Amino acid sequence: MKKTLFALCALLASASALAATPWQSIRQPISGAPQSIGQFANGCIIGAQELPLNAPDYQVMRQDQRRYFGHPDLILFIQRLSSQVNHLQLGEVLIGDMGMAAGGRFSSGHASHQSGLDVDIWLQLPKTRWSSQMLLKPQPLDLVAADGKNVLARHWQPEIDSLIKLAAKDDEVTRIFVNPAIKKQLCADAGADRDWLHKVRPWFGHRAHMHVRLRCPVGSHECQDQPAPPPGDGCGAELQSWFLPPKPGSGAPVKREPPPLPPSCQALLDKHLL
Ligand SMILES: [Zn+2]
Repeated sequence: MKKTLFALCALLASASALAATPWQSIRQPISGAPQSIGQFANGCIIGAQELPLNAPDYQVMRQDQRRYFGHPDLILFIQRLSSQVNHLQLGEVLIGDMGMAAGGRFSSGHASHQSGLDVDIWLQLPKTRWSSQMLLKPQPLDLVAADGKNVLARHWQPEIDSLIKLAAKDDEVTRIFVNPAIKKQLCADAGADRDWLHKVRPWFGHRAHMHVRLRCPVGSHECQDQPAPPPGDGCGAELQSWFLPPKPGSGAPVKREPPPLPPSCQALLDKHLL
């Protein structure tokens, strides 16, 4: 009986693994006018662009994973931010995961990054460019102390404040996810100019990178935005709640079965897998 159950579980597990990977088999963007479709954590993209891999203002990590596709708005945002960072001589911008060629669900690593509007940018700004070997196997710099309450003073630099602030001030950006300890540091450092802080949202993980999310692009009629973050700088009770002992039953979100795909994404997948 146990054995049958085990076999059944293995079968189900492999079925869900298979269900998670078809997007991975789409190696080139779907041609057409750029359209981000669905939600950030359940969507896809037509007409994605590849982030240029050789650029003076940023470097792209783990290129072997081919997660460097996005809506043209995302490409423009990365170029805009990197050129500002470069102009201010803050250091080299390190680009992590964007999305796959047609977006969709990854087999590992992220729930979102599906509609071509999310990018992970590392919270370290090296003063010299990394070699291709370093870019292939990058070493994340954990900015948060072991107790999760503060950033590590030896790793924190004012340039990181500036990087996050520049990104948050970009009109296309709606949310930036960072670890609560990082948000706490930004709150402490911000001074009188604090409007941008409301876009910076505390979240689990995100100890070495920020996750930047753009608004739904003009013309992407099937793209679903999230409600705006609450007003205010988010430095008060909401942030404090992250440092309280967890209530029973709370904690990191539980992984659930993925919801059904938006019909346009399902159609795209069906056509591709014919
Ligand atoms: Zn991310």
